[in-house]
Amino acid sequence: MRHDTQRYSKYLRLNGWEEVASPYAADLIIYTTCGVIKDTEDFALQSIANLQKMISKNTTFLVGGCLSKINPNSLKKVFKGTTFSKADESMLDSIINATVSINDVFWDGDIIREHSPGDPFLYYTNEELNELKLSEKLAKKFKNQNFIEIYNYLTKGRFFWKEEGLFEVKVADGCLFNCSYCAAKRAKGTLKSRPLEKILAETKFGVSKGYKRIVLTGDEVGDYGWDISSSLPDLLEKIDPITKNIKIAVRYITPDSLIKNIDRLEPFFKKGKIYYLCASFQSGSDEILKKMNRPRDLNKFLPLIRRLKHDYPLLFIHTQVIVGFPGETKQDFNKTIKALEFANFDYITITRYSDRPGVSSSKMKGHISKSEMDRRYLELRTIESKMRRRKLEELTFREISESDC
Ligand code: SF4
Repeated sequence: MRHDTQRYSKYLRLNGWEEVASPYAADLIIYTTCGVIKDTEDFALQSIANLQKMISKNTTFLVGGCLSKINPNSLKKVFKGTTFSKADESMLDSIINATVSINDVFWDGDIIREHSPGDPFLYYTNEELNELKLSEKLAKKFKNQNFIEIYNYLTKGRFFWKEEGLFEVKVADGCLFNCSYCAAKRAKGTLKSRPLEKILAETKFGVSKGYKRIVLTGDEVGDYGWDISSSLPDLLEKIDPITKNIKIAVRYITPDSLIKNIDRLEPFFKKGKIYYLCASFQSGSDEILKKMNRPRDLNKFLPLIRRLKHDYPLLFIHTQVIVGFPGETKQDFNKTIKALEFANFDYITITRYSDRPGVSSSKMKGHISKSEMDRRYLELRTIESKMRRRKLEELTFREISESDC
């Protein structure tokens, strides 16, 4: 969503619109929101309601993004105006009388990530505060770029950062899976790969602007190409020669796509071309993965991640897990902890399960109480924090050993 939001801002600029400092002064507001998580939906509905109170009746107010597809009923309760999703974004052209079509606009600047300050869980644990203080001291002492990057990823960068020097290229929308909890799939549909020539042209543009890191992004990048007789490794082989001295990130790849493509991806890890990947496994329990309707190759996936981290320590591997999925027992939860500790991921995004309209998991038995879900979330956050601290110490030790100061 962040990618498309920034794309819309560029689209408006190209069509002669100017940014104003406050919603009071706006002739047009496009509010974009995801609706995959209930907390995000609640935050968006509140913001939309507040904005409508602030603006004049002459302001055109549009709401874009997945929420209009995921939960149109809740959106209608606070917003009666025009909505659009990614699939019908071309309607913007007639609304704003565009001379440059949205179909011809791609995002070409730094990516700005900003977590909502309204998130009640957005705070540091005591361990993280200590880690943050230590990291800041070390980052000042060792002005090595590599260390600063590591520091950014491991510490404060997880909550608020501007990814300077990172150029994002969207390679696909949608995915080939049907995870039982996923509302995004309903909004986006099956995987649609973007044409190779567009991806290459945008990549070349990023290179010409001096970017040193390029992220290939999509709901499921690992299956890129299935609909156009191509594949992620094919794409990387085409991108490699036009991105000399530039590193590539892959966000997101499912465990089975990683396993399926590992032989052709490994050379890119080996030479440091791919420096980051996000491979989400969501739960360490086979039973829960079955209920999630997710790939269940943990016996292959976890040892593979562990080996990659061993063979390529600077390959940054991010994963995502859900806590409190319906029917998740303490044993299931403990399996997730064990899986995380075994695989040695660098960074973990933890999401508390929430029901979404129309998804099959919301009808499952065994919903976990909010207090228990919060308890598991915080337990995992604390474990994650300790793991990150350990990794920070390992990396710091290596930086100090290799540093000439
Ligand atoms: S892989 Fe699963 S969770 Fe991810 S977008 Fe597809 S259906 Fe949703």
